[in-house]
Amino acid sequence: MMPDLLDWDRAHLWHPYTSLTTPAPTRLVTAASGARLEIDGREAIDAMSSWWATIHGYRHPVLDDAVRRQLADFSHVMFGGLTHEPAVRLGQQLVELTGLPHVFFADSGSVSVEVAMKMAMQARPGRRRFLTVRGGYHGDTFDAMSVCDPEGGMHTLWSGVLPDQVFGPRPPAVGEPIEEWVSAMRALAAEHASGIAGLIVEPLLQGAGGMHPYPAECLTVFREIADEHDLVLVFDEIATGFGRTGHLFAMDAAEVKPDILCLGKALTGGYMSLAAVLCTSEVADRIEPGGVLMHGPTFMANPLACAVASASIDLLLSNDWQATITRINERLTPGLAAAAARPGVLGVRTIGAVGVIQLDHAVDVAVATDAALAAGVWLRPFRDLIYTMPPYICTDDEIDTICAAMLAAAEVA
Ligand code: PMP
Repeated sequence: MMPDLLDWDRAHLWHPYTSLTTPAPTRLVTAASGARLEIDGREAIDAMSSWWATIHGYRHPVLDDAVRRQLADFSHVMFGGLTHEPAVRLGQQLVELTGLPHVFFADSGSVSVEVAMKMAMQARPGRRRFLTVRGGYHGDTFDAMSVCDPEGGMHTLWSGVLPDQVFGPRPPAVGEPIEEWVSAMRALAAEHASGIAGLIVEPLLQGAGGMHPYPAECLTVFREIADEHDLVLVFDEIATGFGRTGHLFAMDAAEVKPDILCLGKALTGGYMSLAAVLCTSEVADRIEPGGVLMHGPTFMANPLACAVASASIDLLLSNDWQATITRINERLTPGLAAAAARPGVLGVRTIGAVGVIQLDHAVDVAVATDAALAAGVWLRPFRDLIYTMPPYICTDDEIDTICAAMLAAAEVA
């Protein structure tokens, strides 16, 4: 049975960023509970939170119950001309948490970035480009790809197809001086302002573009630049939202509010795909004279997803999430420190519940993954990075096991 599944999978199913004809190894998950996955019949701690989403772990009784209760009512209805309590309730929670009054529910992170960019362009008619920074990642759809890092992203494959955006330097690392970066950003904004609708960034932590935390002062600089040139400031908090960086939202680190905010991933506790785009009244008001926001996916505001998202937010806020993230950080930081002195390691860093070992060469992903699994942990390194974003429910012992597995992976990779 199991070999059959894997054989059929290998012959027919595309997996992310891999060849269909010579795919990277794929393993079978047969169960998932708490912070653990059963992979190829063996238990492993999920140090990835299924790409940073399952913050409360798998099969959480509160979240399971929220889905079951909504399933007993209805699992889906169209959002055109209809609404429902799960959407309204989730909208109320997000408006209250973010202070942004208008909400668009999209069906994935990338789509929410598309919607955010449409919003910005419709709110600044005649301006078509975006200012961003190197090292970003915003998704795999076309407009989202256009603001991903041009080197690490997919620009080469799509040159001539992607809209041409304006890239400033990557924000400095925490502890580095920021003045030169600030001048470069200001100069670029001044040079291109008349054609730029918005400034889009991942606040505080660049994720898939390099797991790069940067100083909170940079967020204030983004806000100032946007205000100076009437740019719509878009914060993509799809990866950073819901406590991951030690702040409920990364923007809280500098108390800076964007004009548009994208949320996703951990929004539903990782139970299913849902994203939200929130915006100010100013953005909403400036869209309308030229028409209405032209977007409306089939599964917009899916009731199951909205219901589980509401339950996930309640669960997060009813716990001392800040103490939890501090606890994890205080375990990850010493746990990974030993890697810094190892040969082949360029650096080690943590922010909130994120721990990163950066090598001075590309990771051999297959070898690193095997080593981590042998140590009882599921890791999915990329480029030169071995990292963890564990579920918040991980115990101290589980965090220690993750650190040991990351060190083992770094050793062989
Ligand atoms: N923005 C950021 C910051 C992300 O990390 C991701 C996903 N890694 C996306 C957008 C795209 O989200 P999705 O994969 O749900 O389309």
